[in-house]
Amino acid sequence: MAFEGLSSRLQNVFSKLRGKGKLTEDDVNEALREVRLALLEADVNFKVVKEFIAKVKERAIGQEVLQSFTPAMVVIDIVNKELTALMGGTQSKLARANKPPTVIMMVGLQGAGKTTTTGKLAKLLLQQNHRPLLAAADIYRPAAIKQLQVLGEQLKVPVFSLGDKVSPVDIAKQALQHAKDHNNDYLIVDTAGRLHIDESLMEELKQIVEAVSPDEILLVVDAMTGQDAVNVAESFHKQLELTGVVLTKLDGDTRGGAAISVKAVTGCPIKFAAMGEKMDALEPFHPERMASRILG
Ligand code: GDP
Repeated sequence: MAFEGLSSRLQNVFSKLRGKGKLTEDDVNEALREVRLALLEADVNFKVVKEFIAKVKERAIGQEVLQSFTPAMVVIDIVNKELTALMGGTQSKLARANKPPTVIMMVGLQGAGKTTTTGKLAKLLLQQNHRPLLAAADIYRPAAIKQLQVLGEQLKVPVFSLGDKVSPVDIAKQALQHAKDHNNDYLIVDTAGRLHIDESLMEELKQIVEAVSPDEILLVVDAMTGQDAVNVAESFHKQLELTGVVLTKLDGDTRGGAAISVKAVTGCPIKFAAMGEKMDALEPFHPERMASRILG
C-alpha cells in the first residue's frame, strides 16, 4: 500500500498528541519534529518539508490552539489543511479547447506508464461520452505502437498510426487533421520516452508542441521513484511548460514523496493518479482526499 510508512508514523505522532489533553508549545514542537522526520523519510523534498513545518508551526503555536479543549485535533486539522494546500488545494481539471478537438500530449520517461495512461485517459473520456482519437507517435520503443493499437481495440477507441518510419511531428499533425475530419473531440498523442532526459527527446517534443499546440501537456511520472520523479518533472516543466502531472504506480509501496512535493517544487498540478495496470485504474487527483488518505 502506498504511503503506509508515512501514514503509520503520522498516526503515531498524532495519537501521542491526542493522549496529552492540554498541549504546551513544547508538545507541539516535539510533534512537528516527528512529522518533519516522517516526511523526510517519505522522500519529500527537503525545502518543501522545511516550509511546510514552518507554516504549520506558525498556525499551531497560536493561543487559540493551545487553549482549545481539543488542541490535538486542531493541530491535526492544520496539518491536514496545509498538506492539502501543498498538493494543490483543489482538484485541477483537464483543460478543454474552445473549439474541438482538445489536444492532449502525453510525455515522460520510458517505463513511467505513458502508453498505459493514454489508454486509461481514453477510457475516462469515453465514459464521459467523448470521442477520443489516440495518436501513436512513439516510433522508437519497439512495440509501443502495437501496445497502443491493442489498447485501442480493447477500448474500442480509434488509433492513428503511420508506422515507425514517419516523423512523430508529422504523425501528430496528421492525427490532428484526422481528428478534425472524423469529429473526434479529443486527441491524445502518445509521444516517445527515453531512459533519460536528453536534448533530442526535448527537441522533438518541442516540435510536436509547435505543430499541434496542445491544450494539455501531461507528464507521466512513476511515483515509486520519489524525488527522482520530482526532478524529472522540474526538467520537463522548464523545457515544455507542462500543464499537469500524472502520477502512476500509486498502488505500489511508494513512500509518498513525489505526490507531496511535485506541485510545491514545480508549480505544476497533479491532475490524475494511476493506481494499477488495468484500464480503469486512473482517477482525477483530489488533494484533499490524498491528504486524508496519508493522514489515515
Ligand atoms: P511507457 O514506456 O511510459 O509508455 O510505459 P508503459 O505504459 O508501457 O508502462 C510500463 C509498465 O508500467 C507496464 O508494465 C504497465 O503495466 C505498468 N504500469 C503503468 N501504470 C501503472 C500503475 O499505475 N500501476 C502499476 N502497478 N503499474 C503500472
